[in-house]
Amino acid sequence: MRPEIHDLLDLAIPSLQDYALVLLDPQGVIVGWLAGAETILGYREEEIVGCDGSVLFVPEDIKKGVPAYELEVARRSPYAQDDRWHVRGDATRVWISGTAVAIRDHAGELRGYFKIMRDRTDLRMNVELRANQVQALEDAMKRMQQFIETVGHELRNPLAPIKNVAAILPRLSEDPAIHKLATTLSHQLATLERMVGDLMDVSRLQNQKLDLRLRAVDIRELLEEQLAGQAPVAEAKGVRLEGLFLDHPLPLMADADRLRQAIANLLGNAIKYTPEGGTVWLKVTQEGGDIIIKVQDTGIGIAPDVLPQIFDLFTQEPRARALAPGGLGVGLAIVRQIAELHGGVAQARSGGTDKGSEFALRLPCKGPATGEISS
Ligand code: ADP
Repeated sequence: MRPEIHDLLDLAIPSLQDYALVLLDPQGVIVGWLAGAETILGYREEEIVGCDGSVLFVPEDIKKGVPAYELEVARRSPYAQDDRWHVRGDATRVWISGTAVAIRDHAGELRGYFKIMRDRTDLRMNVELRANQVQALEDAMKRMQQFIETVGHELRNPLAPIKNVAAILPRLSEDPAIHKLATTLSHQLATLERMVGDLMDVSRLQNQKLDLRLRAVDIRELLEEQLAGQAPVAEAKGVRLEGLFLDHPLPLMADADRLRQAIANLLGNAIKYTPEGGTVWLKVTQEGGDIIIKVQDTGIGIAPDVLPQIFDLFTQEPRARALAPGGLGVGLAIVRQIAELHGGVAQARSGGTDKGSEFALRLPCKGPATGEISS
């Protein structure tokens, strides 16, 4: 190297305060302490030169033989690059991103090692902070799941005896007022029961415990049944409900109960979110190996910014809540899970606010690739 370059390096190295430059002899003893080494690692040159390079390592790494391993890697490969905690002279820890290379003479003889170390404690702390935040969120999420599961169970327990009372009540009296009360009680209980069922499904959904009992189902029959079931609700609200089905059987390998639940959720929503005078259509077609069930309405529609998350748990539009308060925001998440468990997909489309909505379940006729088949 030309002498003036030596001079330049002597002048440049001390200003490299963000980097610790450390020279070691072939045995790993520190022989050079340059640039920002004192600032970053907290030892003065006269204290550290002559010490084994392992003093800079944390006791856990020393126990694992990391200092010797690092030099071996530097010796046997182009370089050793690692990010790890090191110990400073004042015993505090510093996160270092470091590279070590072997220094060889022209004959290939090992003359020592050169380490470039950069303090990245700030980055590391940030990573650890984020990791802690993620962990805290996951813990909170787990507690919330547990809470939902407990609430579901605890609410279900008193429902059975109350249902009994509602069933016995009309038998105890001929009084029409009592009969009217019993009918109201039964209707409200049915709503409560559906909400509790949804809550239980949410916890099953989050724990991936929703499973299917597959069998051959004639989807047309199932849809007719759903249509008949929802007709009184639509009528009471002044919403026209219409079924448009292909005129031949549509067999599907499916869990009939889960499918009923998904369609009831979609139809129920369509009626709920369509103001009086509107129309809801239930349609079914076949495209290749898929059966497509569609629920379309002329209702309040879905805003474009909400549409992509519409199947996520607890997504609810304020307009929808204002029109039909009391929903839990879980029905569509259950619909999506049911579609996916069947090897299919759930899709939603809307022209936007007040432009109506269309929900589709696309299900493979053969059912999912795997699943529990009941006879
Ligand atoms: P819930 O109806 O209990 O709020 P869902 O998961 O079934 O829960 O639906 C989530 C949200 O999706 C609703 O709150 C509403 O904002 C929107 N939504 C669902 N179906 C429709 C529909 N047919 N038309 C307009 N908005 C709908």
